[in-house]
Amino acid sequence: TTDIYYDDDADVSTLDDETVAVLGYGSQGHAHAQNLDDSGVDVVVGLRESSSSRSAAEADGLTVETPADAVAQASYVSVLVPDTVQSDVYENAIKPNLEAGDTLQFAHGLNIHYSQIEPPADVDVTMVAPKSPGHLVRRNYENDEGTPGLLAVYQDTTGDADDRALAYAKAIGCTRAGVIETTFQEEVESDLFGEQAVLCGGVTALVKHGYEALVDAGYSPEIAYFECLNELKLIVDLMYEGGNMEMWNSVSDTAEYGGLTRGDRIVDDSVRENMDEVLAEIQDGEFTREWILENQAGRPSYNQLRAAEQDHEIEEVGERLRDLFAWAEEDETEDEAESAT
Ligand code: NDP
Ligand code: MG
Ligand code: MG
Repeated sequence: TTDIYYDDDADVSTLDDETVAVLGYGSQGHAHAQNLDDSGVDVVVGLRESSSSRSAAEADGLTVETPADAVAQASYVSVLVPDTVQSDVYENAIKPNLEAGDTLQFAHGLNIHYSQIEPPADVDVTMVAPKSPGHLVRRNYENDEGTPGLLAVYQDTTGDADDRALAYAKAIGCTRAGVIETTFQEEVESDLFGEQAVLCGGVTALVKHGYEALVDAGYSPEIAYFECLNELKLIVDLMYEGGNMEMWNSVSDTAEYGGLTRGDRIVDDSVRENMDEVLAEIQDGEFTREWILENQAGRPSYNQLRAAEQDHEIEEVGERLRDLFAWAEEDETEDEAESAT
C-alpha cells in the first residue's frame, strides 16, 4: 500500500541549518517561498535581473538574488521556473553553483525523468509536488489548511533526502493534508497521461464533439453550451465530493440509466486503445522529444493549435453567456483556472 505522510512524520527544524533557494516566483514559486518563510525557514528567491516578478517577491518581504547567486548561497535548491526553461537555468545558474551534499528539488519530474537535467552524483535529488495550483497552496496555508502533495526521492547521497524533503513538504503545508510517496517516473508519466487523456485533452475534445453534434443537428448554440460545457462543473463537483457514485446518486434515474447504457458507446474500446497509444508515447519518451523540438522551433504547432481553439465557436458563445448570466464568482475562478496539472 501507498505510504502517506502527515505533520507528525515531518520536522521543519531539519532545515534549521539550510538556506532554501526558490528559483522562480510564479504560481508555485511565490507560494513555496512565502510558506517556507512563514514556517521559519531561511529563504532566498532566485530571479533574473530583468524579471517582472522581482517587485512582487520584494514586496512580500523576501530576499531576491539572481538564480546563480541564490544557488550559491543555498544548500537546498527548489526549481520552480517553467519546465521548458529548467535545463537552461540548470546549465547556466544551478550546476556551476551546486555543492556536494546540496539538495536539488523539483515540483515536477519531467526534466530529470527524461534526462534533460543530469545532476552530479553527490547531491540529493527530490520532488515535492503540491497537487494544486500555487495560489491555492498559499491560500490554504494562510487558512491553516493543507494541500495534498507528492514526494519522491530520485537520488539520496546524504542519507537525509527523505527527511529534508518531508520537512520542506511540511513547511509549505502539504503534510497537513497528506503527502503520498511516489517516484519521478510514476509522477511524470501519470501526470502527462492524466492531462492529455482525461483532464485537459480528453475532456475538451468530449465537450467540443458534444457541442458540435447538437449544433450541427440544429439545436441552439446557447443550449448546446449549457448542456455540454457549463453543466460539466456541477457533475465534476459531485464526482470530486463522492466519486462517480455520488454523481449517479444525485442525477435523475433517467440521466443515470441513459448515462450507464450510452456512456461506453461514446467512449468505447477504440478510445481506450487511443489512450494506450498516448500512454506508450509518454513512456518511450516520444511525447517529450516532440515537445522539446516544438520549443526549439519556436512553438509553431502549439501557437497554431491555440489559435484554432480560440477560434472555436464555443468560445464566443461562452463569452457571451458568461456576461449575460453572472454565475461565476470572479475571484475564485481566476485562481482555480490556473493549471494544476
Ligand atoms: P511559472 O510559469 O508560474 O513560473 C514563472 C516564474 O519563473 C516567474 O517568476 C518567471 O520570472 C520565472 N522564470 C521564467 N523563465 C525563467 C528563466 N529563464 N530564468 C529564471 N526565471 C525564469 O511556473 P509554475 O509555478 O507553473 O511551475 C513551476 C514548476 O512547478 C514546474 O515544474 C511545474 O511543472 C510545477 N508545478 C506547477 C503547478 C501549477 O499549478 N502551476 C502544479 C504542480 C507543479 P520572469 O519574470 O523572469 O519570467
Ligand atoms: Mg439534463
Ligand atoms: Mg503537468
